[in-house]
Amino acid sequence: MEKRDPEGWMRTEYENLVAQSLDWKLRTLQGPNARRSIVDGKEVVMLCSNNYLNLSTHVKVKRAAREAIRTHGAGSGSVRPIAGNMDLHEELERRIARFKRRDAALYFMSGFAGNAGLIPQLAGEGDALFTDELNHGSIIDGVRLTKAQRFIYKHNDVADLERALTDADSKFKKLLVISDGVFSMDGDIAPVGDIAKLAEGFGAMVYIDDAHGEGVLGEGGRGVASHFHVEDKIHVELGTFSKALGVVGGYVAGSNVLRNYALNKSRTWLLSGSHPPATTAACIAAIDVLETEPRHVKKLWRNTRYFKKQLVSMGFDIGHSATPITPVMLGDSAVAKRFSERLFDEGVFALPIVFPMVAKDRARIRNIVTAGLRRKDLDDALSAYEKIGKELKVIP
Ligand SMILES: *Cc1c(COP(=O)(O)O)cnc(C)c1O
Repeated sequence: MEKRDPEGWMRTEYENLVAQSLDWKLRTLQGPNARRSIVDGKEVVMLCSNNYLNLSTHVKVKRAAREAIRTHGAGSGSVRPIAGNMDLHEELERRIARFKRRDAALYFMSGFAGNAGLIPQLAGEGDALFTDELNHGSIIDGVRLTKAQRFIYKHNDVADLERALTDADSKFKKLLVISDGVFSMDGDIAPVGDIAKLAEGFGAMVYIDDAHGEGVLGEGGRGVASHFHVEDKIHVELGTFSKALGVVGGYVAGSNVLRNYALNKSRTWLLSGSHPPATTAACIAAIDVLETEPRHVKKLWRNTRYFKKQLVSMGFDIGHSATPITPVMLGDSAVAKRFSERLFDEGVFALPIVFPMVAKDRARIRNIVTAGLRRKDLDDALSAYEKIGKELKVIP
């Protein structure tokens, strides 16, 4: 027998990805993520970050991080349940709860760790779990770790969810409904109000992952539950500091009983070192900025409306987004890739989203508008869109 090659299979798999152009080619930021960044040596208008409010470079947020290193050091030294539970972590959780108008919150290493650690603890053998077919990969992984029966309902289809709940009602103990608040590929918003009302009739628990709604939707950027005025009907709101809040770290917000249960049961929380003082303090400052400087969320929406309006008037199809996520639909994957490369040449950084992330004929460039972009940045990007759109015969 030929000797086994423990790594050769990886080379083959990787080469397959490269042959299909499905491998990631990483671009490098040489400096901060900002309205204009230096990427691979070139200054570009940033149109593909999740830094919706540009808080990653906000002076108060940076200052808080520096100050926390001075007072608390570089690392926390432990997991939270042992010696790594600092006053900063507890202060942050109080601030999250206050901001979200919930009783309590728990800070996780990331949103991904929140979903992967908590979902498996909320439903098990004999329970049923209902998940939107387009939910985020971290939800999919969390769902895979449960022994609950899972039902995948059609995207944003409340009637399909109702059918599945009705069918499961008498057969299962606990029922858990999970949805993204905002779907990051199309920028559409889940019908969270209808989902919450429907679930209530079945006594089902509602879990909303609002990674792209926080800092964007709702009163003062309080998220999708606030947008639909159903905070009291959502049992778990999962959020992240890695997007609009500009730092890193995930959290769940809800009742005191949820927090107590989650911190005793989620292995990603119990067994992973806690956040360093700098990121924790920066997150506190980011919430502070949201509460005291409402102009950022307003500017985000002003920029979003302007950018979308101009693209539509040039003749681009921008899908059905209801948020700053602005797809420019191009159909063919090769066109989307070419378009993105040409945008980069013209000083605009926006990436293509192609199969298998979206259907084969639904390739697009996904733009994410941010608050820090100035009119000139948007106009420069729009000129590039017009020029390349004509060049590649996407618009007349
Ligand atoms: C980005 C994202 C996450 C992961 O959040 P991190 O804090 O960056 O790990 C989870 N859910 C959704 C819907 C997301 O878009």
